[in-house]
Amino acid sequence: MNDLVLSGQKKIAWAKRFMPVLTEIEKDFVEKQVFSGLKITVCIHLEAKTACFVKMLKNTGAIVTATGCNPLSTQDDVCEALRADGIRVCAKHGVSMEEYERHLEESLSDGPDLILDDGGDLTDIIHHKMPHLADNLIGGTEETTTGVNRLKNLAQKGEIKYPIIAANDAMMKFLFDNRYGTGQSVWDGINRTTNLVVAGKTVVIAGYGWCGRGAALRAKGLGAKVIITEIDEIKAIEAVMDGHTVMKMDDAAKLGDIFVTLTGCKDVITKEHFNVMKNGAVMANAGHFDVEINKNDLLSLSVSHEETRQNIETYALKNGNEIHLLAEGRLVNLAAGDGHPAEIMDMSFSVQALALRYLKEHKDELLPGMHYLPEEINRKIAKIKLQSLGAGLDELSPEQKSYYFCE
Ligand code: NAD
Ligand code: SAH
Repeated sequence: MNDLVLSGQKKIAWAKRFMPVLTEIEKDFVEKQVFSGLKITVCIHLEAKTACFVKMLKNTGAIVTATGCNPLSTQDDVCEALRADGIRVCAKHGVSMEEYERHLEESLSDGPDLILDDGGDLTDIIHHKMPHLADNLIGGTEETTTGVNRLKNLAQKGEIKYPIIAANDAMMKFLFDNRYGTGQSVWDGINRTTNLVVAGKTVVIAGYGWCGRGAALRAKGLGAKVIITEIDEIKAIEAVMDGHTVMKMDDAAKLGDIFVTLTGCKDVITKEHFNVMKNGAVMANAGHFDVEINKNDLLSLSVSHEETRQNIETYALKNGNEIHLLAEGRLVNLAAGDGHPAEIMDMSFSVQALALRYLKEHKDELLPGMHYLPEEINRKIAKIKLQSLGAGLDELSPEQKSYYFCE
């Protein structure tokens, strides 16, 4: 067995130790061979936790193809370990955008019955380039906020061609993955990449949604002064009440030492901001696409730029300052780190596994369009997780129930 396969297998085995919910669901699914004979294409960050999920699908009878949703997060050793297990993998770390798209199209070549997407690129190809594939599809799922936003766009025009579950919008996904997963892995990515201290610095977080809240919470814990920028007045007040300072990016740009964008929007940091930033400011994006920090503006203001450390591009501005962009402005936690911890992806992938089964079991009732995971499935995942954590849960007596629920 070659070194790459062994390295991948070791990473996968480590992650699996910390995924008790997925392991529990797998036992049941394997016994029933719930996906027997079904072709499933999975498009997501290809690393160890994903590999546990992909292997689980295979063990439950599915014919699985895996492809990455971001060339920078694909780990080649994990891909090799999956290939050694007989799983078709269409991905390679660091490929060009053309090759990335070719991999996505290749991953659909067997006409899947079910798909799992992260960010909506696969869904986009099916809807706009390969619409014939929709005829065979039982359904799909979507892992992240931006992918769900893209689905809402399609839904508004009445263009969704098959049932798709917004897995991101399941409570057992966004409450933990987006907040605590991103909160921790963003700092893991930034710290590993820069090897700088966070304590005492001013950190500017753009966007106080689920991810922004997590990243701000952890920045505060690391000793930073946190500034939030928002466009939503309610979230802005929430940030104030959580102890952060809220201001416009125009003002925050002058104060920040480290900037993290987590909005899902474009042009959050642009020309006028770069020009007033402190010398040595660090910028990272953790939102879906590399559009939140405007790289064209950055280039137009610079006399030169060079890689000064792995995953750091330093821009020398015409005004004499240097500013540093991490991971090419792409998801810093996945391009420069391993992404979320295994205990978090345990819940996200359990949501995904149960969502795929839900699609299969309800295929005759579900209409084309966006759907949500039923609450009882969220509660089932929560109960198994709680049990694995050794935490107890009180139960109401019949009298309490009738009092509390006004039955
Ligand atoms: P969310 O909708 O909960 O939060 C986004 C917030 O950004 C909202 O409060 C919105 O008002 C605010 N916002 C929008 N445009 C803004 C702007 N120009 N300036 C300031 N604030 C702005 O979404 P979320 O779940 O927090 O996800 C945010 C992004 O992160 C999405 O692109 C999502 O796909 C991505 N994501 C990344 C990871 C990761 O691992 N890095 C994990 C989950 C989600
Ligand atoms: N596909 C987009 C970004 C979405 S990233 C892109 O690469 O540009 C955000 C999603 O990645 C989150 O919803 C989270 O569930 C998932 N994620 C985070 N860490 C992960 C990991 N280690 N393995 C697999 N998926 C992960």
